[in-house]
Amino acid sequence: MIGIVGAGQLGRMMALAGYPLGLEFLFLDKDARTPGGQVAPILAGELTDRRLLAQLSERCEVVTFDWENIPVEALESLPGQARIAPPLRALGCAQDRLSEKRTFELLGIPTTRYAAVDSRASLEAAVRSIGLPGVLKTRRMGYDGKGQFVVRTSADLDAAWAALGSAPLLYENLVPFQGEVSVIAVRGRDGHIAFYPLNLNVHREGILRLTRAPYGNVGLTRQAQRAAKKLLEHFDYVGVLTIEFFVSRGKLLANEMAPRVHNSGHWTIEGADTSQFENHVRAIAGLPLGSTRARGHSAMINLIGELPDRDSLLREPGIHWHDYGKSARPGRKLGHLTLVENSAQGRNSRAFKALKAVDRATWLAVR
Ligand code: AMP
Repeated sequence: MIGIVGAGQLGRMMALAGYPLGLEFLFLDKDARTPGGQVAPILAGELTDRRLLAQLSERCEVVTFDWENIPVEALESLPGQARIAPPLRALGCAQDRLSEKRTFELLGIPTTRYAAVDSRASLEAAVRSIGLPGVLKTRRMGYDGKGQFVVRTSADLDAAWAALGSAPLLYENLVPFQGEVSVIAVRGRDGHIAFYPLNLNVHREGILRLTRAPYGNVGLTRQAQRAAKKLLEHFDYVGVLTIEFFVSRGKLLANEMAPRVHNSGHWTIEGADTSQFENHVRAIAGLPLGSTRARGHSAMINLIGELPDRDSLLREPGIHWHDYGKSARPGRKLGHLTLVENSAQGRNSRAFKALKAVDRATWLAVR
């Protein structure tokens, strides 16, 4: 049995990928209406509830998570026999942007210029040393662009401090990027490592909207894989790890890492020999990893805020529809679409057509 802390769509897709392998799943999350709770049994309660975490660890051989903001302390020294994968050291590092940046630096992975900020005076010092424009970010609990403030001139400092100043912060330079890419890597219990091809990602308002893969030349791929390998070995990692990068002047600058399966890897369900979800489950269960080869040229479009008309999209041949079973709310990821084509050009033209129908603002930005 595999225990999953957090029963969001990522957990749900892990369970759906693991059932054909003969594995069973048990979730911990608030209630059975969560995406994971709709497909597997669930222990209902807070993700930090020690009693429920102990039950999960007693009933499962391995415990994983689908959300990276679970307090590490809650998962430490649980009774029972369960192993935790990915390792808590990687989880703890990814929860704090400052330790993430320091780890990138320690391992020689190029990243943005940054400084820790914990007072108004240190914000001014950071802006003096790093320059403008920059981004002020909360060190913890930031996701989908939340907890960020772009500082363009010194006139923005008051507003940035008023918005975020109550939490520990990080200031970094605003990178004039040509694109954003991510690499999804997986490491098995035996130390075997596999990489998916690079993903080209488009964000709007801090939220991922469109991913296309495979992307990039040999050079970019090599840089991304080198960074991923260093992190995987540094943490003695087991499972899927994602790193997001900015492409700036032909070089990759690491933005952040996620110690889990990732939204930019959803295309692998239909577009790769083995999906990121199946490979994560294989890795943590100690099974051999599956091939990460792309089967063609894929695009994934997130369905955010409200679902478009399902039936008209299903009439389009080759469109794969994924509904996470969540209620609609502005800015909420409710599902995604994937399509796989034989050529990058064919993929792009179909992806833009679908994007125009479901997310016109992003289509206007990328067409
Ligand atoms: P994050 O939560 O750090 O992944 O940020 C969300 C998105 O905001 C990124 O995918 C970028 O589009 C943008 N962003 C964040 N940090 C920077 C930066 N230092 N320079 C340029 N864009 C950024």
